[in-house]
Amino acid sequence: MTTFGIDLGTTYSCIAYVDDSGRAVIAKNAVGEDTTPSVVYFETADNVVVGPEAKRSALLDPDRVVSLVKRSMGQRLDLDFDGARHTPESVSAIILRELARAAAEQTRLEVRDVVITVPAHFGVAEREATRNAGKIAGLNVLNLVPEPVAAALHYEAITGAGNRTIFVYDLGGGTFDTTVLRIDGTEISVVCTDGDHRLGGADWDARIVDHLLSEFMDANPESAADGSEDFLQGLAIAAEEMKKGLSSARSRRHHVRFDGEAARVELSREEFEELTADLLERTFEITRRTVGLAAERGVTVFDDVLLVGGAGRMPAVAAGLREQFGFEAKLHDPDLAVAKGAARFALIESVKVRLPGEDASDNAVVSQVADQLGLDEAEVRMLARKRITTVVPRAFGVKVLKSGPGEAEIHQIAHVLQANTPLPAHLVPHRFRTVYPDQTAILVEIWEQAGAVASAELPDNTKIAEGLVSGFPPLPEHSPLNVTFSMDELGTLRVHAVELTTGKDLRLEVRIEGLSAAEVGLARDTVARYDLRE
Ligand code: AMP
Repeated sequence: MTTFGIDLGTTYSCIAYVDDSGRAVIAKNAVGEDTTPSVVYFETADNVVVGPEAKRSALLDPDRVVSLVKRSMGQRLDLDFDGARHTPESVSAIILRELARAAAEQTRLEVRDVVITVPAHFGVAEREATRNAGKIAGLNVLNLVPEPVAAALHYEAITGAGNRTIFVYDLGGGTFDTTVLRIDGTEISVVCTDGDHRLGGADWDARIVDHLLSEFMDANPESAADGSEDFLQGLAIAAEEMKKGLSSARSRRHHVRFDGEAARVELSREEFEELTADLLERTFEITRRTVGLAAERGVTVFDDVLLVGGAGRMPAVAAGLREQFGFEAKLHDPDLAVAKGAARFALIESVKVRLPGEDASDNAVVSQVADQLGLDEAEVRMLARKRITTVVPRAFGVKVLKSGPGEAEIHQIAHVLQANTPLPAHLVPHRFRTVYPDQTAILVEIWEQAGAVASAELPDNTKIAEGLVSGFPPLPEHSPLNVTFSMDELGTLRVHAVELTTGKDLRLEVRIEGLSAAEVGLARDTVARYDLRE
């Protein structure tokens, strides 16, 4: 059975597979396009529309259209359409279901086993939500793959590159990542990664919307246009078109109309670049951090700098990277590289699940797997040997009391597992001490970095789990507690806390309090009930 790779993007999504000749190919959507807007229109109680038509419907029926849902992944957000409860997971599942349906129709293949891409910088909750979206869509999610790793796999496949170090600048519709990767024979490893999951092409669109609106209101000061949701949705669509146009044209014009009023707004590329200079600078700040971290790890030369993500087409991106970093960045199939690389990753995963433990020595099994997947045996062996190693996307730590005796209590996060630690990570025990006399229990709270850079302040972190070490007699103040963090290749965090005087311990496998299995089941029924149409 063919395994598919899905790029579940903030603004556009795409599905691909590796065909019989070994090429990664895109399965086109129902209207023959490579990418599908990640937009869902809840048309009626039993009908949903996904894709270009849903995007157009945002003009007519904005309250029933959901877009940019990836930005809410990992957060609790309840939506209601005709009495059916929806979450970011279930809306994403509707998109996944449509991608799978259209791909099955186009390729005549069954679409069940998939891998789904996630931004490198996604935290544990966002990853768990993405897996659940796949389950709700009725898919078997073999694994998730970080987007830059997928881009690197595609790069490797098309260039046949040997040992190389690449810098990936990925500016998508809603997220931004920079990643340094090393391709080394059969191994692809992430050296370091950074990013902002709330920065993307949509923010550039919003600046154009503000500009169009202010020009229109200047020309029509009494207009009620700025209170009209339909009008603003229309502007958002026009803004995206203007932005795309300005990647090739020097200037773009738009006639803004509302209720008999009109304004002709001209926007030059220079003006657009001025309006958005701070956004671009934010991407360069992150680029600078990534370059710095790579240098600390001994990587100072990049064989290639790749632009993936559609917004990397804006000429200011390559120009700024040249000016500020001396990079000669190349566009790397910006809309499709991630999906095509995900298709390669999907093939690798499908070999690995059939040959666990990379055991490619048993010829009979290899030959059977080759038959099942329609590959030759040498290829199966090569794929089974492929190793992909990533890094911890964000810092993890423990909540500790910072203030001294008699002072008002101030809590902070002591980060124990730092971002960019190579996975799998097994840390040495970290020593903490109790703070109150006669403690009979110790509450261990695990927090994850929420902002772009690690900070000890509570609001810059998110609590992801907690547990109690207990069952010992009252302890003297300052009793020692060892906490050991480890994280496997898939990003599952395990925490072991031991109270050292009695040896009482606590083991936590951090499972995010996302949707429960029952909620996933319920959402699956809700999503399966809709008729889909593109
Ligand atoms: P992705 O998530 O990689 O599909 O990126 C989509 C983003 O790229 C959206 O914000 C698009 O508006 C943007 N985009 C696509 N084509 C262009 C272009 N020619 N110029 C500027 N931005 C573009």
